Amino acid sequence: MLLKRVLPTFLLAATAAFAQGGAPAHKDTKPAPTPAVTAKKAAAPSGAEMVARPKSFDLDAMDKSVDPCEDFYEYACGNWRKKNPIPSDQARWGRFNELAEYNRQTLHQILEKDSANNPKRTPVQQKIGDMYQSCMDESAVNKKGKAPLKPELDRIAAISNKNQLIDAIAYLQNVGVPVLFGFSSQPDLHNASVEIAGVAQGGLGLPDRDYYLNPDAKSKETREKYLDHLATTFGLLGDSPEASKKEAQAVMDIETKLAEAAYERVKMRDPKNRDHKMKVSELAALAPNFQFERYFTARNAPAFTEVNVVPPDFFQKVNPVLASVSLSDWKTYLRWHATRAAAPLLSEDFVNANFNFYGKFLSGQKELQPRWKRCVQTTDGLLGEALGQPYVDETFGKEGKERMLEMVKALEQALGQDIQTLDWMTPETKTKAEEKLKAISNKIGYPDKWRDYGTVKIMRGNLLANAQAARAFEVKRNLNKIGKPLDKSEWGMSPPTVNAYYSAAENDINFPAGILQPPFFDRNADDAVNFGGIGVVIGHELTHGFDDQGSKFDAAGNFTDWWTPADRQEFDKRTGCVADEYSSFVAVDDLHLNGRLTLGENTADNGGIHIALMALRKQMEKDAKLAQEKEGFTPEQRFFVGFAQVWCENRTPESARLLVKTDPHSPGQYRVIGTVQNNADFAKAFNCKAGQKMVSANACHVW
Ligand SMILES: [Zn+2]
Repeated sequence: MLLKRVLPTFLLAATAAFAQGGAPAHKDTKPAPTPAVTAKKAAAPSGAEMVARPKSFDLDAMDKSVDPCEDFYEYACGNWRKKNPIPSDQARWGRFNELAEYNRQTLHQILEKDSANNPKRTPVQQKIGDMYQSCMDESAVNKKGKAPLKPELDRIAAISNKNQLIDAIAYLQNVGVPVLFGFSSQPDLHNASVEIAGVAQGGLGLPDRDYYLNPDAKSKETREKYLDHLATTFGLLGDSPEASKKEAQAVMDIETKLAEAAYERVKMRDPKNRDHKMKVSELAALAPNFQFERYFTARNAPAFTEVNVVPPDFFQKVNPVLASVSLSDWKTYLRWHATRAAAPLLSEDFVNANFNFYGKFLSGQKELQPRWKRCVQTTDGLLGEALGQPYVDETFGKEGKERMLEMVKALEQALGQDIQTLDWMTPETKTKAEEKLKAISNKIGYPDKWRDYGTVKIMRGNLLANAQAARAFEVKRNLNKIGKPLDKSEWGMSPPTVNAYYSAAENDINFPAGILQPPFFDRNADDAVNFGGIGVVIGHELTHGFDDQGSKFDAAGNFTDWWTPADRQEFDKRTGCVADEYSSFVAVDDLHLNGRLTLGENTADNGGIHIALMALRKQMEKDAKLAQEKEGFTPEQRFFVGFAQVWCENRTPESARLLVKTDPHSPGQYRVIGTVQNNADFAKAFNCKAGQKMVSANACHVW
């Protein structure tokens, strides 16, 4: 994936689209005022099972036979985990998924209603309704087979020299097919108020470079299965078994070279490895075979003279590959990626082949999701801020936003207080940290102005063309930002998403409406539970401003060193402790977590829980009732159980393995155990003694 908005840090990785081979999640805005799309609770569409809304602080989820001081995760989640095996159409199943399924149901009702060909529909209803209709009309999609892809394949077949190859790469990227490398707008690392051009490593079909390069048995098996999948796909395009096998190997050879040239994920976490702005002429000289002048013209981007190159090594190393690999192999590579991007939207032979590899083999998902679920997901992924409008009208009240703002304020105060009392930081750096904290803005629920999809043409009965139109719109919208001021009002997630993020360039925290529900946020629950749920999430996002990546950006979102060297050393010592702690945890078999890859998230989890409890205590001083026991638990105990229950989950061994490689977040089990082990307040709340498993002898503290 290319660098999107200087790596926003999400609360949870979005893997569903990958497992389903679905459309890349990208959302989009309509100018206010919005048409009144008041879809009053339509009847549940037939064929769908109704999902109940998840509960917060769920006594039935707990396994009280477990000692909370020995395994707090099993204590808080044990029964939930036993009672909630992974559904066959999922690769993991947790509280996030429960809520996402609940939200999907609402979206399903909206889309079923709007997909009826009613002349009174608003433009927004027409777009989301017809996108969904074109996806749901499975018999039409199956009847067409690979025909909708034919114009793309013909275009690739017609390439007869390397100039045309560059033009074809530019064309495919313009319609949203990720090949060879990425090109997009991005906030300038040193002047975040402006968007500049950026090119980045990419072009792989496997989820990480390591799959191509690692010598272990599992990586080898993955490569074999990938070769099979490539050959299957070429077979579906009509090639003979012998030709398909050769073509598969050609793709593997090219992608292996791209993988060799690419930086590792951990290396990419350090902003200095993503900081290589140069003149376009310098880039062109660095990697002449890319023909960048020709390429940028073909992309139809606004004019620019400077470009950030992530990393220059990649382009330098791939440069000779462009010359040495035959034109025919390059065409095979493009053919594969054009097909891969379209596969989930083609007939069922393509859908199934794509699922068998990406869903079943890589993620351990047993069955493909029912079509309606994939079609809801596709519509959300392609027209997120259109579908988000009726969703928000139906689900999100003003009251929720006000209470959230109060909680955010309480958490910001707690973090400010925490910074002031740190014994390892000098007053000089504290002042800067305080400045940064004060500058953090927050976005709650949904965008102030919706993305305008007016120019995207969506037709009934033409799924791939619709998806290409929406993807092309998104690509163009992104490139058009080059040279313009950073638009801080923009969102990187659609409103129904069950997730949250911090953006270093914008220096803001973002909470879509989709997550502001139980088990995270429950209007009927007491503050102890809500501070353990959404309170910790808010604390987590705020802390991202001060994790291994965020701490290198200042209040204005610029990559700059605002730390004294001594403070930075102390910080590194403390984050090093966190990295070592999490590297000791085992995800599956003998596969350990990568404490360096997950460092930012683990730091945010630890900081988040610490400051959320501070904020709750402050609240308890004001509200005597809150300090009382309830259902046999003290408020602190309810806080910790509420926190842990957000992370109840089961995952397939395959997805556990995949996520260790690709996900900067730790599994739910360790998000709970890793944090409470470090937390003295936890030990106090449950009377845990030194020597017990949930009391670390070497507790790590950053924030
Ligand atoms: Zn996070």
